Amino acid sequence: MIRFEGVTRRYGERAAVDHVTLEVAEGRLCVLLGESGSGKSTLLRMVNRLAEPSAGRVLLRGRDVAGIEPETLRRGIGYVIQSVGLFSHWQVAENIATVPRLLGWEAGRIAARVDALLALVGLDPARFRDRYPHELSGGQAQRVGLARALAADPPVLLMDEPFSALDPGTRRDLQRELRRIHGETGKTILFVTHDVEEALALADLLAVLEDGRLIAQGRPAQVMEQDGERSVRRLFGEESMAFHRLATLPAQALAQPEDAEDDLPVLPAGASLKQALLLMLELGADRVAVLPDGPHGGGTLYWADLVRAA
Ligand code: ADP
Ligand code: MG
Repeated sequence: MIRFEGVTRRYGERAAVDHVTLEVAEGRLCVLLGESGSGKSTLLRMVNRLAEPSAGRVLLRGRDVAGIEPETLRRGIGYVIQSVGLFSHWQVAENIATVPRLLGWEAGRIAARVDALLALVGLDPARFRDRYPHELSGGQAQRVGLARALAADPPVLLMDEPFSALDPGTRRDLQRELRRIHGETGKTILFVTHDVEEALALADLLAVLEDGRLIAQGRPAQVMEQDGERSVRRLFGEESMAFHRLATLPAQALAQPEDAEDDLPVLPAGASLKQALLLMLELGADRVAVLPDGPHGGGTLYWADLVRAA
């Protein structure tokens, strides 16, 4: 879907992005993780031609984006940034309708689309469609920004640190909502963050950048297993590797397949081993019940098994 082929971007002598080759298949949620200045935004912005490669190419569905006129290209790519960039003198509905209006949709179709998107991002259409941006909280504004990016149903979404300015609770809510929306819409998403926990909470493909170079890529569990890579360990915090690794594994993976006792605390379906650990610490419990989820059966997860895995 998106393919970076030996992509380099130089500013003067320095390479902000240095020979990056990366393929993001259709429907994946790929997180670009790296410290500030590692080249994440530059790499992202080469997809919608807000930056141009000095060498190499970026392919979208097999087509070199250099051959696509930027305005046409950007109509097929949603773009969400930290500062949202809502037009302050436009109501929420008008903001969301920006691209559909450019595309000449008729009014009824636009209104229906705006309401459907507000519902999708968790905002009540009746309460929010007529508000102005200054009447929104940071989290609500970010939801509107996401709705606007999805308005014309682009197959690709680029998100550059969209949640970085939010308080931790709101941020976790929006991460959860983004995973849900990704599951419901099947969009291909490229998401930039410098936050390790956020990356692990979201990614089904993780790409780690350092000084413009791609130093690791793969499923989060694979990247965490690459113990040999010192820069990756440093980024995740050497002493927290075991903890982060637990975040990449489902609780079912270690559950003993037995009927859990009735009075055990129950872990929600889809929870990670890290969530299991936190629940046990919170409750002072040495085992929790795990519900069945998809291909995995449920059972009982024991503290001892969990500690051994970490
Ligand atoms: P990140 O998003 O990971 O924080 P960026 O991609 O924004 O990193 O920047 C990577 C490097 O490229 C930084 O050293 C930055 O100063 C430099 N850089 C980015 N954009 C420009 C630009 N337009 N002109 C000059 N240098 C730039
Ligand atoms: Mg950046």
